[in-house]
Amino acid sequence: MKDAPYDCVIIGAGPAGLTAGIYAARSRLRVVLLEKTAPGGQILVSDWIENYPGFPEGISGPELMQKMADQAARFELPLRTDEVVSVDFSSPLKTIHLHDGTLEARTVIIATGASPRKLGVPGEEMFFGKGVSFCATCDGPFFRDKTLVAVGGGDTAVQETLFLTKFAKKVYLVHRRDALRAAKILQEKAFANEKIEWVWDSVVTELKGLDSVEKVLVKNVKTSQVREIAAQGCFIWVGIVPTTQFLGGSLTLDDGGFIMVDRKMETSVPGVFAAGDVRNTPLRQVATAVGDGAMAAMSAEHYLEQARP
Ligand code: NAP
Repeated sequence: MKDAPYDCVIIGAGPAGLTAGIYAARSRLRVVLLEKTAPGGQILVSDWIENYPGFPEGISGPELMQKMADQAARFELPLRTDEVVSVDFSSPLKTIHLHDGTLEARTVIIATGASPRKLGVPGEEMFFGKGVSFCATCDGPFFRDKTLVAVGGGDTAVQETLFLTKFAKKVYLVHRRDALRAAKILQEKAFANEKIEWVWDSVVTELKGLDSVEKVLVKNVKTSQVREIAAQGCFIWVGIVPTTQFLGGSLTLDDGGFIMVDRKMETSVPGVFAAGDVRNTPLRQVATAVGDGAMAAMSAEHYLEQARP
C-alpha cells in the first residue's frame, strides 16, 4: 500500500537536513527525513569543530551531530533509513524512488552533501583501506609513529593533517601550488607544527607497495622532477564532489555539479529546495549548512501555504 503524500521529504541527515527537519517538524508538517546510512553526514569524520558558535571550547563532529539528531528526535521528526535511487519532479506531486519503496511529496529538500574527491592515480583504489584513506579520525590512530603523506591545500587537508600529527612521526603535506587555500588560523597552526614537511608545487602520481602503501610518487609540477617518498599511508583531501547522481538531470546544476538555488534555497523546480554542501555556495561550513536548512524548511512551508486551494 502506498503512503499518503508527504508535505515534505528531506533527503540527507547532515547538519542541513537535520536542521530542515527540526524546523519542518516544529511547523507540524507531515515530513520524513531520509538517510542512507547514519545521521551526521561528512562532519562525522571531523575530529574537532572550533568555529560553530555555542561551543566555546569546540566540539567533536560526532558529538555535535548526536546533539542535532537528539534535538530532531525531541520534535518527533521521523527518520527513515533508505537510499534514494531516482526522482521524478515532472509534476507538482514529486515522486521519490527508494531502494525499498516509493514516496510522494509536495515539497522536497535535498541535503545530500558531498563526498571526497579522488585523485584518480594508480594505486589509489587498490590500496584503499590499506594505507589510502580519506578520514583521519577513522584511520589516523592506526599510524602511530609512522610516516604519512597527506594531499591537498584546503581547510580539510590542513585541519586533518594537524590531527594526524598526534599519531604519526612525520606527515609530508603535498600541495599542487605554493600557497594554501585553508583558513589563516589553520595555516598558522600547521606552519608551527614541526612534524609537517611541506611539499609545494607537487602532485601525487602513483602509490606503490606490495600489500599496502609503501611509497608515494610525487611530481613537482614546475620542474617535472619525480620524487619517491617512503610512507605507510596516504590521506587524500583534494575537495568534494556533490551527491546528485540520483537526480538524473532533473535540476539545474552549476559547472561543478552543485545544485543551483535562489535566495530561498529553491531550485530550478518549484517546490524543490536544496541546502548545505550540495548547493552552489561560496562557503561550506556547519554554520552555513544549518542556515540553509532553516531557510529551505521555511520556504517549503511558504510554498505549501501558497499551493493550498
Ligand atoms: P577545497 O576547499 O575545495 O580544497 C581542495 C584542495 O585540494 C585545494 O587546495 C585544491 O588546490 C586541492 N586540489 C583540488 N583538486 C586537486 C587535485 N586533483 N590534485 C591535487 N590537489 C587538488 O576542499 P576541502 O578542503 O575539502 O573543503 C571543502 C569545503 O568545506 C570548503 O568550503 C571548506 O572551507 C569547508 N571546510 C571547512 C572547515 C573548517 O571551517 N574548519 C573544515 C573542513 C572543510 P587549489 O587550492 O590549487 O585549488
